[in-house]
Amino acid sequence: MSKKIVVFGEVRDGELRNVSFEAVAAAKLVSEGGEIVAAVFGDGSLEKAAQELIYYGADRVVTVQNETLKTYTSEGYAQAALAVIEDEDPEGIVMGHTAAGKDLTPKLASKLDSGLISDVTSIEVAGGNVVFTRPIYSGKAFEKKIVTDGLIFATVRPNNIAPLERDESRTGEITAKEVEIKDIRTVIKEVLRKSTEGVDLSEAKVVIAGGRGVKSKEGFEPLQELADALGGAVGASRGACDADYCDYSLQIGQTGKVVTPDLYIACGISGAIQHLAGMSNSKVIVAINKDPEANIFNVADYGIVGDLFDVVPKLTEEIKKL
Ligand code: FAD
Repeated sequence: MSKKIVVFGEVRDGELRNVSFEAVAAAKLVSEGGEIVAAVFGDGSLEKAAQELIYYGADRVVTVQNETLKTYTSEGYAQAALAVIEDEDPEGIVMGHTAAGKDLTPKLASKLDSGLISDVTSIEVAGGNVVFTRPIYSGKAFEKKIVTDGLIFATVRPNNIAPLERDESRTGEITAKEVEIKDIRTVIKEVLRKSTEGVDLSEAKVVIAGGRGVKSKEGFEPLQELADALGGAVGASRGACDADYCDYSLQIGQTGKVVTPDLYIACGISGAIQHLAGMSNSKVIVAINKDPEANIFNVADYGIVGDLFDVVPKLTEEIKKL
């Protein structure tokens, strides 16, 4: 049965995050041919972002422009989101499983008295049901969920559901909605760290991660060069962060970021279970480690037993020749 689905897009510095397009593609699957209404919030012009959402498959877009929506706050975004939901009365809601998505969606679900299926990695329609798959036990198993009653509310993990083909011939209505936003108690001092110019670690298609084997801050330099050559981002194990070789914003794992890039290159990382929780669902894993017994080789598609300070510069050199 076709359903109307609302998708919350995410704008950062005037640009939509990729996961917004992935959420539209996810909503298409959930809607089973119904209407997709995307919503975007911000303080500046949202016209360009709204247009992009239509090119990527939204049927209509609602924008809420308000000076309080410059950066994400749970109070501000919840008020804007609830106003859109009240107008649209959708049968489903989809958003990216990002920092904002993880914060906003439980709040909305509670206000709407709804369930929430978070961190979805795939969606299929089977036996007349929309079936959501999500990892559990730190990625060691997957569970399948269906919604039998009420609102279908889901967040989708970045880099798992392919966006639809961008099509400039798609057209759709863009409506600016006024929302009175009040009682914002949170003051956000935004600290944005990008390991590589323009590449966000949680959305990167290529991640080069360093562990304690990198041995120093300077040891990350060859990894950054490889990341630059591949258009990727640098990440790290907690071992490397604890040793102060890099900032904790780069930490991948159970208590860090969860990434699912197309290519993950682990350099000098042993492969502790807590690290695997953040990267084992990457599409292709390459491990570079001096120790042939290192656990990381058990999850790697390709393993290189060797010194990362020999292997990484050679890889960069070869990639630059392509
Ligand atoms: P090590 O285990 O010390 O491994 C270093 C590796 O580098 C070794 O395999 C060694 O052979 C190799 N090596 C050394 N020199 C070279 C060289 N020149 N060339 C190639 N290889 C070399 N960890 C995370 O990563 N993320 C988390 O989110 C996380 N959360 C945790 C939560 C809890 C509650 C706990 C208890 C632990 C958590 N940990 C997490 C820590 C985790 O258990 C490991 O301690 C950590 O992942 C180890 O980091 P590492 O692999 O860099 O270091």
